[in-house]
Amino acid sequence: MKVDVFTLKKQYEVIKDEIKGSIEKVMQSGGFIIGEDVKLFEKEFAAYCSVKHGAGVNSGTDALFLACLACGIGKGDEVIVMPYTYIATVLAISMAGATPVFVDIDEKTYNVDVSKIEKAITKKTKAILPVHLYGHPADMDPLMEIAKRHNLKVIEDCAQAHGALYKNKKVGSFGDVACFSFYPTKNLGAFGDAGMILTNSEDIKERLLLLRDYGRKDRYEHILKGYNSRLDTLQAAILRVKLKHLDKWNDIRRQNAALYTKLFKEKKADMILPYESSYVRHVYHLYVVRIKNRKGVMEGLAEKGVRTLIHYPIPIHLQEAYRDLSYKKGDFPISEKCCEEILTLPMYPELPAKDIKYVVDILTNLL
Ligand SMILES: *Cc1c(COP(=O)(O)O)cnc(C)c1O
Repeated sequence: MKVDVFTLKKQYEVIKDEIKGSIEKVMQSGGFIIGEDVKLFEKEFAAYCSVKHGAGVNSGTDALFLACLACGIGKGDEVIVMPYTYIATVLAISMAGATPVFVDIDEKTYNVDVSKIEKAITKKTKAILPVHLYGHPADMDPLMEIAKRHNLKVIEDCAQAHGALYKNKKVGSFGDVACFSFYPTKNLGAFGDAGMILTNSEDIKERLLLLRDYGRKDRYEHILKGYNSRLDTLQAAILRVKLKHLDKWNDIRRQNAALYTKLFKEKKADMILPYESSYVRHVYHLYVVRIKNRKGVMEGLAEKGVRTLIHYPIPIHLQEAYRDLSYKKGDFPISEKCCEEILTLPMYPELPAKDIKYVVDILTNLL
């Protein structure tokens, strides 16, 4: 028996014909850069999230970076973010020239602890950057209220939460801008790097379209120093096909998560299971548990063919790359504790129930 932590092969088998047709059309058209499918996917994905505009870019990291620039964030500015995330969230702030200011997480939801945000606000703070980590939305109502009171921008990192709901509204529809990654293993994934920024602001959208395309207004007329960060037409064509399946795939992720949780509870397993706030619809990009003897459990699972991962083992404030910020161990104790205990179990829509049972049986025997 072999259970991978994710696999994309099974999904490809199901949608192969649709995908091949859409790729062939792009090949025939020759419109590889900002072609028809890019414009259509921007419209369709924005509509899916109930947001007015979409700007396709070449990765989730660039989505966050360009979103910062489009919000006027740069050198000397501070952006509030949690240290318990993938490093790309924080790198994007640095790429814009701004300084990340960390706030610890809530131990149940692994999202920013909104009650700690206000203490971190200074005269230099320009924005709050919540991450809907693992597919569980951040607590947006109080967060937006703080942002409004202090006149701060809100940049949502939705890279792990396509289709997740907060009080029946899609994530990505709350902030001034929202950033998505379509990295292959995300809930909505391309066949390579891809990303998108959503916004209701016409102004921000216009700036983003310039920033992603050399700052050009016309073929050879450039009105600002832009970048080359466009969503490939081929990836957009693939994503248009996959978007039609996203709700169904998220439903199955939720069923898989419910089965894991039910089985672990039946076995009275001594571990912390994922939590879902009453007002959210979690989309389980990852199914993350917390256990004491993580190293032993991971090795034991690996011996029985079950691959697991850790998302993420080192909080950003303790990463070598951020030594310049002079944070130290103990600064964000909840993030640090969780990093030592978390374990990501296999999770993808095509994961069979029998594999989930197998993982639960082996894991509980190792506790
Ligand atoms: C994947 C991810 C990113 C980066 O997206 P890329 O498309 O890989 O650049 C940013 N933030 C979070 C939370 C992510 O999971």
